[in-house]
Amino acid sequence: MALMITDECINCDVCEPECPNEAIYLGKEIYEIDPKRCTECVGHFDEPQCVQVCPVACIPVNPDFVEDRETLWQKFRRLQAEAQQAQAVKATAAGKPAG
Ligand code: SF4
Ligand code: SF4
Repeated sequence: MALMITDECINCDVCEPECPNEAIYLGKEIYEIDPKRCTECVGHFDEPQCVQVCPVACIPVNPDFVEDRETLWQKFRRLQAEAQQAQAVKATAAGKPAG
């Protein structure tokens, strides 16, 4: 399952930099988690890093995104592939002569 942030969030900012998938962002009022990017930290850590650091324990599982470990692993692999592709595109662009 992806995780979600409830309205108990106090916008303390500590979870955002801890996320290895860049799934956490500041929404309109509080921090939010993009369920397409949250793997519950599968592929990176044994425990969800945001849950570890949140001082008010406001990051439960998102009931709208029920996923087993295999699905989370597939999501991790997809994100890795996308990141590699983006890097390759960047490297290619950087290698091109200006203009
Ligand atoms: S569980 Fe992990 S991947 Fe999901 S939002 Fe928290 S830190 Fe990011
Ligand atoms: S760590 Fe918890 S309280 Fe702090 S911004 Fe993240 S979700 Fe909100």
